[in-house]
Amino acid sequence: MAENKLMNLSESPYKNNFPVFVSAKINGQPLVYLDTAASAQKPLEMVKAMADNYINSYANVHRGIYYLSERETSLFEQARQKIAGFIGAEKTAEVVFTKGATEALNLFIHSFAGNLLKDGDEVVLTQAEHHANLVPWFILQKNIDFKLKFVPVDDMGNLDMTAYENMLTDRVKIVSVTQMSNVLGTIMPIKEMCRLAHGKGAVFAVDGSQGITHAKVDVRDIGCDFYAFSGHKLYGPTGIGVLYGKYEMLKRMPVWQGGGDMVANTTYQGAAFAEPPSCFEAGTPPFVQAVGLGYAVDYLRRIDYEKAFAYEDKVFDYLYNALKSVKGLRIIGNAEHKGGLVSFVIDGCNEQDAAMILNQMGIA
Ligand code: PMP
Repeated sequence: MAENKLMNLSESPYKNNFPVFVSAKINGQPLVYLDTAASAQKPLEMVKAMADNYINSYANVHRGIYYLSERETSLFEQARQKIAGFIGAEKTAEVVFTKGATEALNLFIHSFAGNLLKDGDEVVLTQAEHHANLVPWFILQKNIDFKLKFVPVDDMGNLDMTAYENMLTDRVKIVSVTQMSNVLGTIMPIKEMCRLAHGKGAVFAVDGSQGITHAKVDVRDIGCDFYAFSGHKLYGPTGIGVLYGKYEMLKRMPVWQGGGDMVANTTYQGAAFAEPPSCFEAGTPPFVQAVGLGYAVDYLRRIDYEKAFAYEDKVFDYLYNALKSVKGLRIIGNAEHKGGLVSFVIDGCNEQDAAMILNQMGIA
């Protein structure tokens, strides 16, 4: 690593938008934050806009007939509109707010898949799924005797598309895959996978938690039926996520949690449910977080994606080559289509020690 000339990161066009990179010193060193796959740092304007919302216009949504509540309701619904536009949804009502990608995937799996699947059916995932698109399926298997099949990933991190095509039997009802692996960085060919799944009559869902920060997402171009992601990885606040679903799919999806706001009317005999997306948003929603995510989307919309991705490629090449020059370091995942993410192991050095040494240098 010592032989590599240090890259001048001050040329980043966006760094100054994030106060933590300007001010933070970790162990006396400027912060080098390499944990964006876990959660992104926040642009100042998003934080300020959220603070302004809490300070000046805070009130609960969908229930008060007074200025502040009506204004907050309108900001909340505007945020939904902004997010629908950002991912290319046809209708604003196709955006369901959840508390994160994990909850969005659980909603899709327990409600939609739980209603659709019968004993003997099959569901296809890849070997590169995050726990959020794996464990809920195991939980569902306790009630329904369906089979999970995993598309293999080779040593380089490439997905075996021939194996995938061969897996698509008539019994496959759902394919659910990550857009980009959070471990290998592999970018999956989701558009082609979706076309093949639909050709066999299967529903296609995408875990976009990593993918949405590394590509311009257009759910209609992908063709997917469902798309899940978290706000906090997209430079927004924690506690907010999205399940996008084609409207006709959401209409078929049974309600999940019961409570206020998800009903059209209630008597002592029973309840009639609201239309999607409200029927999936029981209780007081995380509305300030939703509004915050809307501000993060405003910020991203002003970014020149081509310029940003070109800069990301440059930083990634620098990191990749610097790591490759470290003796005994092995990079895990070298797929043909790979995003800006590197996993590695170092011979004879456990990860706790490596992380501790890096932390002393201000590297997260
Ligand atoms: N899927 C992928 C690919 C992820 O990387 C993550 C977060 N690491 C999740 C799902 C879950 O996201 P969250 O923890 O925000 O719910």
